[in-house]
Amino acid sequence: MRKQIAAANWKMNLTLGQGKQLMKDILSGELELNENREAVFAVPFPYLAEINTMTAGQKNCYTAAQNCSAEKSGAYTGEVSAEMLSSLNIPYVIIGHSERREYYGETDAILAQKINMALDNKLKPIFCCGEPLAVREKEMQNAHIESQLRAGLFHLVNVQIENFVIAYEPIWAIGTGRTASSEQAQEMHAHIRKVLTDQYGPEIANSISILYGGSVKANNAKELFSSPDVDGGLVGGASLVAADFISIIRSLK
Ligand code: PEP
Repeated sequence: MRKQIAAANWKMNLTLGQGKQLMKDILSGELELNENREAVFAVPFPYLAEINTMTAGQKNCYTAAQNCSAEKSGAYTGEVSAEMLSSLNIPYVIIGHSERREYYGETDAILAQKINMALDNKLKPIFCCGEPLAVREKEMQNAHIESQLRAGLFHLVNVQIENFVIAYEPIWAIGTGRTASSEQAQEMHAHIRKVLTDQYGPEIANSISILYGGSVKANNAKELFSSPDVDGGLVGGASLVAADFISIIRSLK
């Protein structure tokens, strides 16, 4: 069975003290995790080592970076390489979040390079895709997502993409309080799985966890996650409140 994952994305929020307190509050909750149900915490770079120590003590909880460099090493001031993350034993890295694509000019080609860096360093990418509102209004979202998957991932061979994690995050739903309906989410997730099946075959496609992101809250997670192709969520705002994120984790299938 493919993994069901609740992934927190703290973005650029919380001090270290606040983050550690939030982790303590969440990790002391009844999370009902097991080998098929994971919680992942994508935290700011400076907190990775400390938060990773906290998740390491907890079964089926993992730490993630929110980004990594497309370059291996060298004169790239302010960048953090996949190798550095790997040297901290960080298991996951988010790649291609729409905020990175939009505000930092991360193109499909750069993202494909980041995916390679992550895999070369044994990090598990959470690859984000999602369409802007204008694309959704023209009903072009399926083609848009397929093109992001092709450009970012389809250079990978079967063994590299098996058990992968993809997050579908419609940009119009991120941080807006406007969630996709569970029908809209299921429709797109099924489309993504079909595109993956056409490229890699059903066995690989069924091994890939496809998370939904975009205003997932404690009160809508259960319904969103109940759809057959929605394997959990990537959660921004609601992951900063312990009780809400605990409830979201407990909503996993
Ligand atoms: C995100 O950060 O990827 C996200 C989906 O944010 P929010 O849950 O706040 O919409």
